Amino acid sequence: MSKASILTDLEDIVGKGFASNKPEDLYIYSQDPGASEPRPVDFVVMPKTVEEVQEIVKLANNEKIPVIPMGGGLTLSGLILPVHKGIVMDMKRMDKILEINTLGRYAVLEAGVTTGSLVSYLKDNHPDLQAPVPDAPTSATVAGNVLIHGSGSLSQKYGHHAHMINGLEVVLPTGVITKLGSCAISKYWFSKAPIPDLIGLFTSSFGTMGIITKVSIKLFPKPKERDIIFGLTQDFDGLPDLMSKITYTEFAEDLMIGHSHTPSNMKNFCSLMIYITGNSKEEMDLKRSTIEKILKEKNIQVTPIMGQTRTYLMDHPQYTAAFAADWRKGGGFEYVGSFIPLEKIPEAIEKGVIISKKYGLIPSLLCRIIGSGHAVMFSVTFPFNRADPDDRKNAREGLEETNKMVLEIGGIPWKTELVGQKHTMERADPHYKELFKRVRNLLDPNGIMNPGNWEV
Ligand SMILES: Cc1cc2nc3c(=O)[nH]c(=O)nc-3n(C[C@H](O)[C@H](O)[C@H](O)COP(=O)(O)OP(=O)(O)OC[C@H]3O[C@@H](n4cnc5c(N)ncnc54)[C@H](O)[C@@H]3O)c2cc1C
Repeated sequence: MSKASILTDLEDIVGKGFASNKPEDLYIYSQDPGASEPRPVDFVVMPKTVEEVQEIVKLANNEKIPVIPMGGGLTLSGLILPVHKGIVMDMKRMDKILEINTLGRYAVLEAGVTTGSLVSYLKDNHPDLQAPVPDAPTSATVAGNVLIHGSGSLSQKYGHHAHMINGLEVVLPTGVITKLGSCAISKYWFSKAPIPDLIGLFTSSFGTMGIITKVSIKLFPKPKERDIIFGLTQDFDGLPDLMSKITYTEFAEDLMIGHSHTPSNMKNFCSLMIYITGNSKEEMDLKRSTIEKILKEKNIQVTPIMGQTRTYLMDHPQYTAAFAADWRKGGGFEYVGSFIPLEKIPEAIEKGVIISKKYGLIPSLLCRIIGSGHAVMFSVTFPFNRADPDDRKNAREGLEETNKMVLEIGGIPWKTELVGQKHTMERADPHYKELFKRVRNLLDPNGIMNPGNWEV
């Protein structure tokens, strides 16, 4: 089929104005804010319903055209840039909040609902509930975030966001619509279990297994009070034990370690950001005093945080994330995110600093504790000047070296670029790879779903 007739078919499915192959429309879809080089796109299409998604996938299957699902496009690591051209399916028109179950505490959302719209909907209608959202810009989609194992302010208490999925509606690569989780059996989207859990096939698979059209996520009580305990430590080697002791109390809602060489007098310190929440002064006092006692035992001074700095640190999403993203004023930003074991925090920080300096950057690193210390999201930031190809290449090389370092110390790169995926797969157990390949071929016999990603 010619490109013109494919466009006509896409327009017949979604309506004129929601499919395009004009260069001026495709330009923005050919790049993301990260360090990947732009990659060409043939078509962009914006479906409104699951049936439209189904028809597009059937067309792509007949014509063997790649389909790349996209939410907010903010993952930064090129995951929504086609490797072999094709159709970018922008999900933003599927933006309905379908259900908020206040007793069972979950939300059923279409795939294009943004974190910003969910947060403001809850604020207006259910102020005693909160959703798991990242510190990403609020145009990120909830689906995009939970599908990539994102994390955020509730992650110390409840784990990473993929653990908060109750159910999915998926359009499989052959165009079949299916439901996964309790919603496959019942009208309630309240649980993944107790049937064989196939939801895992669709998380961290970067759109290679199918297109998610609906997602059910857990919601959580929103306590009335929230505060931050801020401390500074020079004992990097003591961080794993400190984190283990704090998580043991189960009193922190979010727990982060920052390490930055700006201002330069901070280079010998790690900052500790420990968020506590509660519903009464007594509860807050108990949590604060218990955590401060642990810090005191480790000779860590608690520092009161006031004024603008307090506003930045208490913001949600945290303003500091956006600030760190653009400190070089070049408009380009990417970070290596990774999951590492708790015990590897000191080594990761030490090696992350060496790599940052090697690539001419002021080190800026963050650890967010996931669950009760079950994992750590460790990141090293690489801001760069988008207009300078050498600076962009420098960032790519630094990102690759950091990903390799993470793998060497026993961690796993998170939402990584193509080259990071390759390094990760090279280390995978051969039987895992064989199973992965077979599942993928079974689901997607024509290889149309975001091909080039997770190549086995
Ligand atoms: C300043 C900044 C701060 C950030 N802070 C955080 C943070 O604190 N925590 C965090 O977790 N992340 C963070 N991020 C990373 C990222 O922005 C978020 O994780 C974001 O939620 C990703 O959502 P998205 O809608 O942009 O996903 P996208 O980038 O659009 O998609 C992500 C992946 O999922 C696939 N996908 C998207 N939608 C679908 C669908 N419907 N069906 C199938 N596959 C799909 C895409 O193909 C892609 O592979 C940050 C980013 C920035 C720029």
